[in-house]
Amino acid sequence: MQTGKINVQTENIFPIIKKFLYSDHEIFLRELIANAVDASTKLKTLSSLDKVKDELGDLTIEVIIDKENKTLTIKDRGIGMTAEEIDKYINQIAFSGAEEFVKKFKNKTEVEQGGLIGHFGLGFYSSFMVSDKVEIKTKTFKKGAGTKAVRWECDGSPEYTIEETEKSDRGTEIVLYINEESNEFLEDHRILGLLNKYCKFLPVPIRFGNEKSWEKSETEKDEKGEPKEIEVEKPRIINNSNPLWKQKPTELKDEDYKSFYHELYPATFEDPLFNIHLNVDYPFNLTGVLFFPKVKKNFEMQRDKIQLYCNQVFVTDSVEGIVPDFLTLLHGVIDSPDIPLNVSRSYLQSDSNVKKISGHIMKKVADKLEELFKNNREEFEKKWDDIKVFIEYGIVSETKFFDRAEKFCLLKNSDDKYFTFEEYKNLIKENQTDKDGNLVFIYTSNPEDQHSYVQNARERGYDILVLDGPIDNHFVNTLEQKFEKSHFVRVDAEVADKLINKAESLPSRLSEEQTKQLTEIFEQQLNKAVYHISVENLGENDLPVTVTQPEFMRRMKDMSAMGGGQYSFMGNMPDSYNLVLNSNHKLMNQLLETDDQEAKTKTIKQLIDLALLSQNLLKGEALTGFIKRSLDIIG
Ligand code: ADP
Repeated sequence: MQTGKINVQTENIFPIIKKFLYSDHEIFLRELIANAVDASTKLKTLSSLDKVKDELGDLTIEVIIDKENKTLTIKDRGIGMTAEEIDKYINQIAFSGAEEFVKKFKNKTEVEQGGLIGHFGLGFYSSFMVSDKVEIKTKTFKKGAGTKAVRWECDGSPEYTIEETEKSDRGTEIVLYINEESNEFLEDHRILGLLNKYCKFLPVPIRFGNEKSWEKSETEKDEKGEPKEIEVEKPRIINNSNPLWKQKPTELKDEDYKSFYHELYPATFEDPLFNIHLNVDYPFNLTGVLFFPKVKKNFEMQRDKIQLYCNQVFVTDSVEGIVPDFLTLLHGVIDSPDIPLNVSRSYLQSDSNVKKISGHIMKKVADKLEELFKNNREEFEKKWDDIKVFIEYGIVSETKFFDRAEKFCLLKNSDDKYFTFEEYKNLIKENQTDKDGNLVFIYTSNPEDQHSYVQNARERGYDILVLDGPIDNHFVNTLEQKFEKSHFVRVDAEVADKLINKAESLPSRLSEEQTKQLTEIFEQQLNKAVYHISVENLGENDLPVTVTQPEFMRRMKDMSAMGGGQYSFMGNMPDSYNLVLNSNHKLMNQLLETDDQEAKTKTIKQLIDLALLSQNLLKGEALTGFIKRSLDIIG
């Protein structure tokens, strides 16, 4: 036996590894298994080059818990190491790598350490986070002198021992003597959970114990003479070693993508709408599959489901900073060895590779959407309501995406017809241009609640857009900025006649004096803080009284309620409405002429309440009063 001292330059790093690094010690398992996978794939490569004398045999990596001896073993049948290689790779290279890593990060707080994406970097020595002692038993695939199996051992002090040992099969066994505080890693369910998290798609089979399943027996029969169902125990293989994103798109069917989606998200029942298979090898390396889910109104819940892998090793499911915000609504997998993994998020955002990757993904997503739109518009329209939020989000947040999406983004009108921006502009050009030459887009945010307004506007031949999505407020603002000479107005922002400011206006039947009088008698019945009265000269068949909510004020209020940045200083803004009296309605003359005070008040109240009712504003005591009064009138 030989002992030695690992070349410690500054200070003993073991206590630091144990105490100060990472809040989640669990990543040691991923590091060790990633090493085992490397050793196995290296062997495969060497074998394909005819450099391995023996049969490769089964390369399955095993993870074994021994509760009695309190050990956790990771065993591979990869290339193994000679004594010389252990000295070089473990005692020197790996150690100095770990030392450097520790130096860099020991002074960071836990939060900062947690911000290191994926925490790659500590490698083999991360095993000391959870172990009192670590043992390596290894036998190289090489033949000849100096290739005997060796055993290396280290108890977390800079001293190690190394000796020859007996080991029948090729490969490496790492035995961790789990320390007292880390007992959880001797529990089957804990290890199983970790393997499922980090190793689900590694390229070499990983086995963890056995699992039971029911199978038809080949020999035994039941009473009916059918093969008997018997319980069998089989090795439990954790991973799918040939995940879909590594396969050729041309060899895959829609069904394959769907079943892979459910493999990724076992708790999700809905199928994805469509997918994008990513495959880039220049100027960076990236593979992956992105899925479009049906985007729900509460889309925040569906966010952050993209899993980031590095050579099939799971790194994180938070890709914030790697892809633009709106793309985090997509689901799926991104696998790239070119994303720097042991750096902080703020660094990531400025990394040029990351920028290129993010730009590439955005372009691919736009390509796919455009292709779907061009190839089968009918299908695209059917899916529109489910992808609308996603596309609008992209348009609102990324100028580059707007430049692509303006060709395929759709607008839906109240007849459930879909138009591109261009088509829609042409549709309304004639009838919905105001006196200053602006195109006026009229929309409803709730066709049900704003029904009477929609009806009135349509009677004037106007087309009404349905913009009832969760971010349509922002969407409307963005379109107004992007489209030249255009503005958007909600259908209840003005009386129908005034939605579009045209040059001509009807004359009034009332004198100035009468108009003033009319305003006064209505004002007496109203809360002036909320309602502002105006008199307009509308058609005699238009409603006598209408409640409107001016576009500008309402939009600011909506934005501040959504916490929309620039308006948030306004806090909780009060509501403000207009009460528009139609000077040309015959009831107005009657009201001015009658001497019966009681009848007059009743009619005014009734008119106001009817207007409020159509804007869903009649509530509580006022509603009860209205019902009572209405019954009186009938009775
Ligand atoms: P890294 O994997 O980043 O190189 P590690 O500290 O994890 O750093 O490992 C150091 C080196 O030790 C590896 O590069 C490899 O040469 C060797 N090694 C570690 N584990 C194994 C293994 N299971 N089989 C063969 N070689 C191994």
